[in-house]
Amino acid sequence: MRLYLAVFALLAAVHCEELLNGDQVLRIQAESEDHIQVLKELEKNVDWGLDFWTHGFSIERPVDIRVPDTSLFAFKDFLRDNNITFTVMINNVQELLDRERAEMVMNAEKKYKTKGFNFAAYHNLETIYSFMDSLVASHPDLITKVKIGSTYEDRPMYALKFSTGGEKRPAVWIDAGIHAREWVSHASAVWIADRIALDFKDNRAPVPSILSKMDIFLMIVANPDGYVFSHLTERPIHRLWRKSRSVTSNPKCLGVDLNRNWDAEFSGPGASDDPCGEDYRGPSAQSEIEVKNIADFIMSHGNFKSFMSLHAYSQLLMYPYGFNGTNAPDQPELHEVATQASKALNSWHGTIYKVGSIFHTIEQASGASVDWAYQRGIKYSFAFELRDTGKYGFLLPADQIVSTARETWLALKYIMQYVCEHPY
Ligand SMILES: [Zn+2]
Repeated sequence: MRLYLAVFALLAAVHCEELLNGDQVLRIQAESEDHIQVLKELEKNVDWGLDFWTHGFSIERPVDIRVPDTSLFAFKDFLRDNNITFTVMINNVQELLDRERAEMVMNAEKKYKTKGFNFAAYHNLETIYSFMDSLVASHPDLITKVKIGSTYEDRPMYALKFSTGGEKRPAVWIDAGIHAREWVSHASAVWIADRIALDFKDNRAPVPSILSKMDIFLMIVANPDGYVFSHLTERPIHRLWRKSRSVTSNPKCLGVDLNRNWDAEFSGPGASDDPCGEDYRGPSAQSEIEVKNIADFIMSHGNFKSFMSLHAYSQLLMYPYGFNGTNAPDQPELHEVATQASKALNSWHGTIYKVGSIFHTIEQASGASVDWAYQRGIKYSFAFELRDTGKYGFLLPADQIVSTARETWLALKYIMQYVCEHPY
């Protein structure tokens, strides 16, 4: 009996540890340089198991951190002892995870009954890839599926090419999901792929005129291995996976932050050299096959005029640079384009976006894709952080997918049209 109880207690303990019951996301606001120094030390502290949902300590903007239930008491005490202000953004992370999972099960049943594609649901890689095949099959004159390489775990990486013909026309690149846990970016890209096809078929401006001059390449899942991992349900924590899945120099910590691995001021400030860090940059620029595949594809194509990357969350529309605070040579124009695009986005649901350089709106980041694209001569390079501003963070309810996609589409359309009208 005693043995039975001991085993039961052990199983219960393991089970509790795996769930994120009681984990909270705290929003922390530094108000002085001293606070910033204290908070920077936190990033090196592995004992508390902190998970940074946003990065970059500054007195201008707060940082969101998921704090495991077991560290919560001590961590809040630590903040109070240092007079650092915080608010609870998410009271119980597990509750949101449970809700999301229940929604997915319900949506899967619905799909089974109706056989239609549900855009208001999160889908796994297999479903997204089969959606891409159906879309290509329905619009064979417009869309082709281009395999640009394979991932570390040997999954294919696909971009959808929307083209009305011509050889290596000027082109727009759009990717989503380079960070695995930012599910609303993949889901929005799915809706946007369908919308491009429908607008072309229905002759709805400005898509036909854009596609008469340019091609659009849309990569819905830029980090397939990470995305598959984020769908594994045996441990809820997998849902919050950000990086790739490659082996690093530390056997305990897998994965590289694919948006710190580009050959753009690689290894500068704003990326971690610790394989256990959420923003680990990798051993060398483009060491990650996923980054190399995209970079090689874009360079060998040679005629991309715009590069856009969809992330979540924070509601930001950003342009280079991320690696430092200097203005990009095209800063005034990029700022104006981003401002007008964010106005277009706002016109649908009133969602407010902040516009600026990556460095000035979110954080210093070296080795980021948008800086890389800009430095390779792709002037109209932008990064989006989609909804929300932190109420749900990465766990945005699926009933917000379509409205998020729809408003994002207005901004993308504005930018693509602008690029068309401003050849260079
Ligand atoms: Zn991201």
